[in-house]
Order: sequence, then C-alpha cells, then structure tokens
Amino acid sequence: MAYSESVKRRKTREVGVGPLVIGGENPIWVQSMTATHTEDIEGTVSQIHELEEAGCELVRVTVPRLKALENVTTIRQKIGIPLICDIHFDYRMALGCLDESCEKIRINPGNIGGPDRYKQVVKKAKNQGIPMRIGVNAGSLERDLVEKYGWPCPEALVESALRHIETAESLGYDQMVVSLKSSHVPTALESYRLFSEQSDYPTHIGITEAGMVPYGITKSAVGLGAILLGGIGDTIRVSLLTERKSDEVDAAFDMLQATTRRVRKPEVIACPTCGRLEIDLQKVVTEVEERLKNQDLPLKISILGCIVNGPGEAREADIGIAAGRGKGVIFKKGEIIRHVEESEMVDALMDVIDNWDEETETGTAAPGDLLPVIQTPQ
Ligand code: SF4
Repeated sequence: MAYSESVKRRKTREVGVGPLVIGGENPIWVQSMTATHTEDIEGTVSQIHELEEAGCELVRVTVPRLKALENVTTIRQKIGIPLICDIHFDYRMALGCLDESCEKIRINPGNIGGPDRYKQVVKKAKNQGIPMRIGVNAGSLERDLVEKYGWPCPEALVESALRHIETAESLGYDQMVVSLKSSHVPTALESYRLFSEQSDYPTHIGITEAGMVPYGITKSAVGLGAILLGGIGDTIRVSLLTERKSDEVDAAFDMLQATTRRVRKPEVIACPTCGRLEIDLQKVVTEVEERLKNQDLPLKISILGCIVNGPGEAREADIGIAAGRGKGVIFKKGEIIRHVEESEMVDALMDVIDNWDEETETGTAAPGDLLPVIQTPQ
C-alpha cells in the first residue's frame, strides 16, 4: 500500500456531542479527564479551566457516587466545553447523569451490571437524545469473552464492542462512539484496526494508563501515532500520570500535528546538531519557539545548523534557515530571500513570519549561490 493511501483518514458516521460533531470529516477533537473527585466542585472546575486554557475540547469527569452525581449540572454551568460523565459499575449513576446537564456519558457495558441494566441505560440515552461512548477496556472485559479467547486479545475487545453496538441498535439507538483501550500498545493498535474494518462508528482513541512523563508520552505517541496514521480516530486522549493536566492536551495536539491529522501551529524542524555546527543553534531555536508560542499559522519552519542538510530542508519548508560560520541564509518557499548574521537571525525569521500574508519578497538566487556565503573553509 502506498504511503499516501495508508494515511487517508477513515470516514466515520457523525455523532453530535453538544456543539461538537464527532466523526465524519470533523476535526479530531482533543479530550481529557479530570483527576479530581467530582464531589469537589471548585477543584474539578479549576482543573477543567486549566484544560480549557490548554485547548481541551471535551472533558470527562468520573461519577461514582450520588454526591458526585448531584454536582454534574453545577460543574457544567461553570465550564465552557462539553462535559462527559464517566460511569463504572453502578448503572443508576448512568441513568442519573442522563437527567443532568452533560453532553455525553461513557460507560463500559462489561462492568455496568449485565445486559438488562445496559439496556435501561441505552433506552434512557435514546429518550434524552444523549450520545454514549462504549468504552471497552482490556482490564475489564466480560468474563465469557476472556474465557472464549483465553486473554483480552484484540478479537475479544472488538467482539465486546460489536456486541454492545448490536444490542443498542436493536433498541433503535445509534449515537455511539467506541473506544477499545489497552495499556499494551500492539493490542490497542490491532483492536482499533480490526474494529474499523467492521464498523463505521467513530472512535475515541487512547492508550490507557500510559504512565508518567516522559515515557507515558513516548508510549502514547507510538500507539496513537500508529492508530492515527492508520486513518483511525475521531477524538483523542493522552492518558498521563502528571500533576499538570494540560500536559495531556499539549501531547495530544503535538501527536495530531506530527501525524498531520490536525495542524494548528507552526512546526519547527531543527537539527540535533553535531560537530559541524557553527552557530548557537540551541539558543536560536529556543528563542524562535518562545516567540512562536501564540502564533497559529500552520507554517513549516526549518532551522538547520550547517550546509549538509540545511539548504535542502530549508528549500522544502515554508521558511528555512541554513546556517554556517556565524551566518545564515533565509529561504521562503524554496527561494533565498535574505542573508543574515547569526545575531539577526531570530529577528529576521520572525519578521518573515509576522508579515507572512503581506510578504511578497522572494529572491532569485539559486541554491548553490549560498554556499560561498556560509561554507566553512577547509
Ligand atoms: Fe550536524 Fe549540520 Fe546535520 Fe545539524 S544540519 S546535525 S550541524 S550535519
């Protein structure tokens, strides 16, 4: 299969979640979950505001007890993004949430108390017009499927999801999003792949219990990157053990950016440096990254430290700097537009970025012309 074919996003059916639509050609929305007790309104709202500030678009809270259930509507009134209630074990909490102000519920039908209770939840979700995530998890798969397959393998996870979809559809309900989570990356990847071959329901993707930063981000990036590049995923959560919940949101957006599934900021391509380096590249790139923090133009900016790959990368980027001997050459859309000293490099680059719409200046020098400018004498 050609690379371009493998990265085409799979078209799923659309499911409305408050003001957002999940699936179809809509963006892959970034989701997170609070680590607070929902009994604590102030703490929960404060954490959701931190997530909102980072760009989170859907947030989930756990509703394990009556006291937490009582707070759902109050919490929703104090936040600006759709609220998802996450329920395990007690189907009455799911029924209760469907009477509160939330845009979606998430249940794991495998631990909600059996088929009859699951059906009660589905019927009420249908009546209330509330979508639901069928959250299948390798750690809490139905016993009969574990016995049938011997372990919570991808086939077992997919059979669980399809079984619950079939039951819901038999009751006339189809507002579902599906997740098939495992902390084992190959199992998660294969589960999403198998499911997507058999169903067009949108998927929420995640690698569950990925652990602490930085390994948790690396593990999630491996799994979610492969899933996204396989064309799968309509919402995403990076599950990290971190005190700064916004880490989850930042990591999710970075994964969407790196897979080109959703580009919402400039991407800086910088070389790792080596013995050929002749400028303080770390300083230059750090300053550029800092000054790009609020920039949302989806530009590809390449900053390389010498002429080995610098001109080639710079020509391929929207804007590029090929550096050497304390100088640099700035490229715009493949053409050289300026020669700059190292001390002016960041200002000159930012000048091009800040005037990107108006900028019409392009140079005419052939790429080979820059070699005498920045080449190191032997
Ligand atoms: Fe080294 Fe040049 Fe490559 Fe940077 S671009 S890593 S300085 S060879």
